[in-house]
Parts: sequence; C-alpha cells; structure tokens
Amino acid sequence: MTVTVATLGFPRIGPRRELKFALEKYWAGKTSRDDLMTAAAGLRTAAWARQHALGADWLPSNDFSLYDHVLDTSVMLGAVPARYGAADGQADLGTYFAMARGTTAADDGCGHAHASQTACEMTKWFDTNYHYMVPELVAEQKLALNAPKIVDEYREARAQGFETRPVLLGPVTWLTLAKGRDVDPFDFLDEVLGLYGVVLGHLAAAGAEWVQIDEPILVLDLDDRQRKALTRAYAKLSRIGVKLMLATYFGGLGDNLGFATALPVAGLHVDLVRAPEQLDAVLARAPKSLLLSLGVIDGRNVWRADLAALLDRLEPIAASRDIVLAPSCSLLHVPVDLALETKLDAEVAQWLSFAVQKVGELAVLKSALNHGRESVADALAASTFAATARAVSTRIHDPEVARRIAAVTPDMAERRSGHATRIAVQAAMLDLPDYPTTTIGSFPQTPEVRHARAEYLRGTMNVAEYNRFLREETERAIRWQEEVGLDMLVHGEFERNDMVQYLGEQLSGFAFTVSGWVQSYGSRCVRPPILYGDVARPRAMTVDWWRYAQGLTDRPVKGMLTGPVTILNWSFVRDDQSREASCRQIALAIRDEVMDLEAAGAQAIQIDEAALREGLPLRRSEWQRYLDWSVACFRLSAAGVGDATQIHTHMCYSEFNDILPSIGAMDTDVISIETARSQMELLEGFARYRYPSAIGPGVYDIHAPRVPSSEEMVALMRLARQHLRPEQLWVNPDCGLKTRKWDEVKPAIEAMVAAARVLRTDVPVPA
Ligand code: GLN
Ligand code: ZN
Repeated sequence: MTVTVATLGFPRIGPRRELKFALEKYWAGKTSRDDLMTAAAGLRTAAWARQHALGADWLPSNDFSLYDHVLDTSVMLGAVPARYGAADGQADLGTYFAMARGTTAADDGCGHAHASQTACEMTKWFDTNYHYMVPELVAEQKLALNAPKIVDEYREARAQGFETRPVLLGPVTWLTLAKGRDVDPFDFLDEVLGLYGVVLGHLAAAGAEWVQIDEPILVLDLDDRQRKALTRAYAKLSRIGVKLMLATYFGGLGDNLGFATALPVAGLHVDLVRAPEQLDAVLARAPKSLLLSLGVIDGRNVWRADLAALLDRLEPIAASRDIVLAPSCSLLHVPVDLALETKLDAEVAQWLSFAVQKVGELAVLKSALNHGRESVADALAASTFAATARAVSTRIHDPEVARRIAAVTPDMAERRSGHATRIAVQAAMLDLPDYPTTTIGSFPQTPEVRHARAEYLRGTMNVAEYNRFLREETERAIRWQEEVGLDMLVHGEFERNDMVQYLGEQLSGFAFTVSGWVQSYGSRCVRPPILYGDVARPRAMTVDWWRYAQGLTDRPVKGMLTGPVTILNWSFVRDDQSREASCRQIALAIRDEVMDLEAAGAQAIQIDEAALREGLPLRRSEWQRYLDWSVACFRLSAAGVGDATQIHTHMCYSEFNDILPSIGAMDTDVISIETARSQMELLEGFARYRYPSAIGPGVYDIHAPRVPSSEEMVALMRLARQHLRPEQLWVNPDCGLKTRKWDEVKPAIEAMVAAARVLRTDVPVPA
C-alpha cells in the first residue's frame, strides 16, 4: 500500500514576511499592481518548490491569498456588497482591497467623489488567532462568478511543472460563516452550489484530478439544515469530474463521523492531533474506497513530533490501505522556518518544528512506511532523542513550581469578603466621585516610543537613556491625566512592546522567536511567545514602573497586568500537559505580581483578560469546563489581596451574554468592556443577571480615529443607566489607546471627562 504526503496549505506570508511588505508598499502607492502581482507569484513559486523539495506529494494551490481565503471565496462567488460599487462578476483588485480594508473618501483614483466605505467585518477563524473577512449577503444579492483565481493559480503551478491539488473553502462552511442582513444565507445554497459546480468544472477542464475542499464546520455541533446542505452539496459536487478530498480540522468529527464518512467524496481528511481518539472509529467507518488523509502532525502548534511513536500507530494502517499523511490543518497557523531562529536557545530549539520542518517530518514518516524504518534511521533517532530529552529536561520541569501548585488551596481563590464589604472599604479608601473616569491602560505608542525601543534593542541607546526616555513619557502622561481631570490614572505602558510579550519575557518557561511570524489578518502578523516550561516569576515585573508613576501624583494609579488566561491563549502552549495546568502556573506567577503591587501600595490593580472569551472550545458541550478552569485561574491570580485593594479587569469584546455567570464568577470589583459599537445592548444582559460589581462600559470606540462628542457619550451612559445602578458605573474608552495618536486621544478623553461631569449633575431618575 502507498503512503503519500500532503500539506493542506502552506504559510502565505513568506519566510521573511515578504507578502506584508509587498502589500504595504502597494497600499502606500509606492509600487504598482504589477509589482505586487510579481511578488505574490514569486512567493507561490517558492512555496511550491519548497514543499516539493521537502517531499510533499500533494502540493496545494489557491492556499495563497493576497488578504484572506474567505474573502477570496466571497469575491469568487460575487458576494460583493453593493456599497463597493462593482458590477456583477466584475470585482477587481480595488474592490477586493476595499472589502478588506475600507476606503477613505479621497481614495478614489478616477477623479470622482466617492463616499468612504467601511471594510467588511472581520472575525476569528474558528478557534485560531487568524481573522477572516465575514461574507455578507442581502436578499437582493446577485451572485456571479468572478474570474476564479483558483483556476489561474492551478494553471500557473502547472506551467511551472507543479501538479497541484487546489484548495477551496467548502460551500457549507462559507454559508455558515456568512452574515445575512435581511436574509438567511442558506437561501443561497443552490445558487452557490451552481457556482461551485462551474468552478470545479473549470478545474477539471484545466487538468486537475483532485480538489481539496475544506469543511471545518464538520467538527462543530451541526444543525439539521447544515447537514442537509452538506448532503445536497456533495451529492452535486461529487459528480462534476474532479475527485474531492473533504478536509475537516480543528477537532474531531464526533457525532458527525458517520455522516461525514457517508458523504460521496473520494477522500476525507481528519484531524488526529486535536482528536487522536477518533482514529479507530474513522478506520472502522471509512470504506476502503475512501482515501483517508491522516492529520498526524500538529498544524496549530510548534512542537516537533515523536515520529517513532506515530509510526507505531501508522504501520498497521498503512499495511492495509493507502493513506495520505498531512498536518492536522493548514500550516498557515505556524511560523515558516525554524532555521531562521538565530537567537533561540539550542536546547529549546531542538524541541520545535515550524512549517518547513513539519513537511520534513511528514516525509520521514512516509519513507519509514513505504521503505521501512531503516530507510530513515537517523531522522527517527534524532526525533526520539529530542522527545526523550524534552520529557526530562530541567529547563521544563521545575520542582519548585510543582511544589507550589500542589500547595494551592481553594481559599487562595477567594477574596476575604463579599462585594458589599469590599465596595464600602474601597469607597472609603479611594474617595472617587460618581461616574469615576479612567482609561484602559496604554497611551499612544508614538513613533518616538517605538523608535526609542528599537534603538534600545539594537544597542544604540543604553539602559539609562532608555529608562530616562520612558520616565519622561510616563511623567508627561501622568501630568496630562491630572490636568484633563481623570479620576483613576494609568502609567501608560510605554515600556511595553506587547501586553503578553512584556510579561512573558520576564517569566521563566517562555521563549521568544525573531522570525516566528504567523498571519493574524491581511498584512498583520504576530509572533506568539512559546510557552515551553514550568512558569515562575523570578522577580517583580511591573512594580518599579508603577511605583514611579504613583510617586508623581496623589490620584490612584492602577497597577496593570495581563491575566493568565490571556497569556495562555495568545501563546503557543505546551502539549505535554493540559492547558489548564499551564494556566494555573501562569496564574501563580501573576498572583505574585499582584501581591507585590499591593505591598508597594497599589490601591487598584487591573488584570486584563482580553482573550478569555476567544479560548472557548468549538463544541458547546466543552464550554463550561473551560470556563470553570479559566475563571478559577483568574481568581487564583487576583484573590490574594485585601478588601481595600480594588481588582479591575478588562475585556475587549462584547459577546458576553452567553457567559455572564462566568464573568460574574471572576469576582472582580470593576470590569471595563467594549460596548460602544453595540450601543450598550449587552448591559441588558448584565442587568438581567444582576451583576453585582462595577462596570465601565466603553463609551467610545478607540478602533477608529474618529473623536466622539461629549453629547454622544452622555447619551450612551444614560442608556447604560437604564440598565444598571448609577453607583455601578465607570466611564472609560472601550480599549487601550496605544494604536491612536495623541491628537485623537486628547480631545476624546477631554470630551469623556466632560461627559462624566454632565452625568454627575443629572437629577437621578426614580427607579
Ligand atoms: N491594558 C491594555 C491596553 O490598554 C489592554 C489591551 C487590550 O485589552 N487588548 O493596551
Ligand atoms: Zn481591550
């Protein structure tokens, strides 16, 4: 029997973020459309050549995208909202980028005045940190095929001698992700299937034998309508004349297993990293005529696999049927090439594997299965050596951390007193006015701040100079906050590059890469920290900057920390222990910092949990378990303080209604949330749930440069007051201000403080 290797998708950004730079130059008007297209084509060719050289048999095409593969699919189908003004089937590159990024009024290019258009909405791709552009549909939407890039890219590869398996986002996943304004997206099912049929027909005519069609929704809880749509879709699409490899990933098929294996497709890809336990059931259900693609190498994380252990499982399977070996999902979600890491500690580096290395691992497995383990004896020995070394390394296993974890008692997650007592003690200590004003933590990371940091990292600015610079920035921020009349101040976070990285760099157990970029959206990339070992906090991380800032003013300055769940969710995490276990270690480290801030005199400490909600598992049935341990970890980090210390948290999103009991269970004294864009709707939920503590509903959207008026903010807060008691309310923006300019921040915060003053003079409305 034959074993082959597929990759499902390769990082698009290029090893050195070439795509980012090509896009940004083009957007800035510094290069032409042709320059951009040439750069993109170069990246595609390089990716094909690389994967081919590494031993991949099934090369993907159309996994490349100039911005986002969901947007590509929407444009392919002609699902282009009318506001972009493209005629049916005529969306061009300008339309594409307008949907991705919006347009400004001046950005017209043909001498006519066009109103500015907002971009399509963007949201997270399943449980990854990749963001896609949400497809939009309206009732009168006319769908029509735009020149499909999938066919062009297939031909392009073929002309270069690469036979590829084009990748297409499946129709039912696309419809599931779509938002209908006045229409149910599924009403478009038949029309969409018609267009998919045409595209597959073009691919067949161009010579494609196989197409990979991604339906990750098969790992979710499906309703009847989705199942019916899938049945209908694959009954139709399997008759076009190309073989379909139906790809599922990000979890197990679970209760959809029987359904998925019965769809009339030629191949099925399953994720055996997230759901190794489904292997036996898949094998039992899948007829021999169904080509199985086994996702055995982790496409979501950076660890090197234990190849010999995988072979133990794969050998009996490969003896009885043809299989394809693949990463669990597209390699889009891991960095490109470990070889570019020049600064990683050598011991940690040998445990890691990025996209390039992962294809190499698959090739080793293939060779061992096709030609015997001896054909790759050295590679297997190296893999076993790394796995064994990692299992016992003292860099990972810290007995002192284990001892502290074992000593955690339930009372450590409990504040000393309940809300009522704490509110009274804190009110007496802090003596804040009604509707106290504050901000979320960061102030503008100006070009000067970024420049100074770069100089410092490059070594052209010494520590003393850098610290002097940061002290000046901080002092200016404190003075300005006093002047503008804010009640609770922040130090401004000028010393922080990133809210996770800044703390991670000071904790043991984290490693940072120099080139480990992963696409977040469009040209934006992130370099997630790698949590490889037990976490401890050798020394205080934020106390000095807090103390300096508090020393400048009589008003309270908040201590500012990132919560354990957010640190976990924005990192590549260990796969040798549960997320929960890693999170608890981080929680203890943050707890140490909280206690040190309190000891230094901080009266209020904010522990941001920006990413708590996005860690929710894909299956509803697993939500509660996640919420329970993540809330427990947050409490462990926060609850050591006395009644007088006010614990704040911040969450920058607004879909709280389904997790309100857990938000309440965090037992904070003040929570600031994003509400400006949803017009306070969600406060209804807080009111219904009888949320006991204080809330700062963000009164303006910091994500746009627009400066809001004081009247708008007063109106929003009056709305908030319909739902919550006045003494529960704080006044603040909806997120940190680091991405804004001081020219925007100053008038906006002035208006916000003025709004709070107006609210204080309002005659209370009798309940
Ligand atoms: N304290 C952080 C800041 O103000 C919070 C950022 C966030 O929630 N994403 O930047
Ligand atoms: Zn935020």
